[in-house]
Amino acid sequence: MPHRTHIQDPAPLHDQVGRLYFRVVLPAATVALTLSSGGQDNPVLPLLTVLAGLGAALRLLLPARLRDAVRYGFAVTAIAFVLGVAAFGHLPALRGTPAQLSVALLFTPATLMAWTLLFADRPRTALALNVTLTLSMTLLVWRWQTQGLQPGPLLNLPLLVAVIGAAVVYSALTFAHMNARYHAGEQERVRDPLTGLLNRRALNERPDGPEPLHVAVLDIDHFKRVNDTHGHLAGDRVLRAVADVIQDALAGHGEAYRWGGEEFVLLLPAGSDAPAVLEGVRREIAARQFTGGQRVTLSAGLTRRGDGEDLGRAFERADAALRAAKDAGRDRVVLAAWGSQVPRRLTSAPLAGNLLSAGPVV
Ligand code: GH3
Ligand code: MG
Ligand code: MG
Repeated sequence: MPHRTHIQDPAPLHDQVGRLYFRVVLPAATVALTLSSGGQDNPVLPLLTVLAGLGAALRLLLPARLRDAVRYGFAVTAIAFVLGVAAFGHLPALRGTPAQLSVALLFTPATLMAWTLLFADRPRTALALNVTLTLSMTLLVWRWQTQGLQPGPLLNLPLLVAVIGAAVVYSALTFAHMNARYHAGEQERVRDPLTGLLNRRALNERPDGPEPLHVAVLDIDHFKRVNDTHGHLAGDRVLRAVADVIQDALAGHGEAYRWGGEEFVLLLPAGSDAPAVLEGVRREIAARQFTGGQRVTLSAGLTRRGDGEDLGRAFERADAALRAAKDAGRDRVVLAAWGSQVPRRLTSAPLAGNLLSAGPVV
């Protein structure tokens, strides 16, 4: 049977960001800036271009297992570079230029965003790098300001707005994408993939209030035989059909969980006619003819959760009623009154159809 074991992710986030920003945007922008600021006798921009080009080449050429070293190495080098320029910026050859100030203003926000995504798997590292880069850049720009440096014609204000806007829009989109993925993952965590019902984890994590409820435990009868006679895919079809019948019967009023293999737990509102709902499910399944003409029945135990009673206690009582239903011959629903000890052997009289009581009816 074809089986997908992993969620396919065509390009992990940090790969997308790495490719786009560090392989293309940053090298291309530094080359463009260096060319357009030609004639200025200052080695910083050409050096930055060489660094960006080297980073891009290493990312492209090195095998994947070394890429981690490249991303750390590149980030640390970039910070060291900024601190170096800040420390030695007083030397005549390294004095700041309007073009460099433009680069700092344009690329600081974009690089902070890119690092956040590039190190999305290591949020503490991303935070440390981003704080350090912000402090270094602040120091550098402050020094330049004390030297009376003004942004040059390269810092065209519309371009600044466009770059910062694009960085913010891209990060907002990425955040929305990650948020959607997170919520989809949360949904998957509490859903049973076969039937679409809530799973046992969802039941365990269900916030339990004091509201009165009916608690039912259902189990398909001789289900192993279905698998053994008709195969596991036929068994799966039966499970899905039972889940569908349960969902239809609840009609949105109540909760249905796949508790285990062929066992289901239902929580019904106190005001509902729970015995009728359960008996309806039982009858509907018993009347169906599945592929190959097989017939399937199910047994259920039902009880009411008493005022302030723990859900686990009510579950135990419903489960005991289910065992009583099995003992009494299967294909039936047994009601256990609140506070009753369900007898292992059922002695009570039928209520209606295959609805039995294992104590005074609630
Ligand atoms: P009883 O009437 O006493 O409940 O008998 P039973 O055969 O239903 O109970 P048993 O616990 O012996 O068998 C349950 C079977 O459910 C065994 C297992 O192979 C099957 N099962 C559990 N999960 C799945 C599933 O996801 N798909 C299929 N096809 N079968 C499953
Ligand atoms: Mg079972
Ligand atoms: Mg069973």
